[in-house]
Amino acid sequence: MSGTEDAAQLVEVGSGIHAWVQPDGSWWLNNAGAITTPSGQLVVDTCATETRARRFLDALSTATGRAPKLAVNTHQHGDHTYGNSLLPAGTVLIGQENMREGLRTDPIIDGCPPFWSPVPDWGDVQRRLPDITVTDALTVHLGDRRVELRHPGGPAHTTGDLVAWVPDERVLFTGDLVFAGLTPLVFMGSVSGALAAVDWLAEFGPRVVVPGHGPILTGDDIARVLDEHRRYYRLILRTGAAGIENGLSPLEAARAVDLGEFAGWADAERLVLNLHRFYADHHGSELDLIAAFSDALNYNGGPLPTHV
Ligand SMILES: [Zn+2]
Repeated sequence: MSGTEDAAQLVEVGSGIHAWVQPDGSWWLNNAGAITTPSGQLVVDTCATETRARRFLDALSTATGRAPKLAVNTHQHGDHTYGNSLLPAGTVLIGQENMREGLRTDPIIDGCPPFWSPVPDWGDVQRRLPDITVTDALTVHLGDRRVELRHPGGPAHTTGDLVAWVPDERVLFTGDLVFAGLTPLVFMGSVSGALAAVDWLAEFGPRVVVPGHGPILTGDDIARVLDEHRRYYRLILRTGAAGIENGLSPLEAARAVDLGEFAGWADAERLVLNLHRFYADHHGSELDLIAAFSDALNYNGGPLPTHV
């Protein structure tokens, strides 16, 4: 067991609202959570591996004394979904329409390519897809408590993002629309869509933000981190546009840019993946996942480190 596993913890961020925070938030180390009332419990995301998903669900069960009635996936990525099969068989799972299709066709759960080191071992997990799909919005009623599941309206982190908003406590689970203090990733979504989604998130007026990765945010840190995302996405838009104008490949464009204030963030090589998304959208082509990751590994000088 590594130090990062030891440090995972369940934090009560509002009345009956828990966040499961897994430091250091880098590749495959996500945050999850739950909203619990006497009328039922809604889990928000699971974790990448059998071990980590069990640890989260056991901690939640101990803290709340309840089993999840419902669960929602904020998006399709395996760090938020591979542990779905560890939920009780009777838990009703919700996801955005595109999220369901993305997980249905995700090859990585069947065998992880050697893009990461060490190559993650998911353990005994199976692909478990949402029972209920949402296109735009769905409200879950846990007794008197409302939990609003909302889609940003277009591609952002992925094509199937949902946030979970608890209005009475003003707690917002953003999924990977927010990476707090780590490099944002939009290669399966849209750079301009992710930028627009930052304003959309701000409009909720949250008191607490549970990001998809990184520490819980409150107070002035919320606006600060959202501003960082705006500046980062604008850097990608500028770098991509200049790269195309100067005939550079995404990798060459990445190497030419000074990351400046973002140089200290973990997983800096996501710059390359994000530029691949910009280029694909500019040319109206499909993103080549293998080529994008090959370039990211090249930029990084080897496989990407993970502590999952
Ligand atoms: Zn993600």
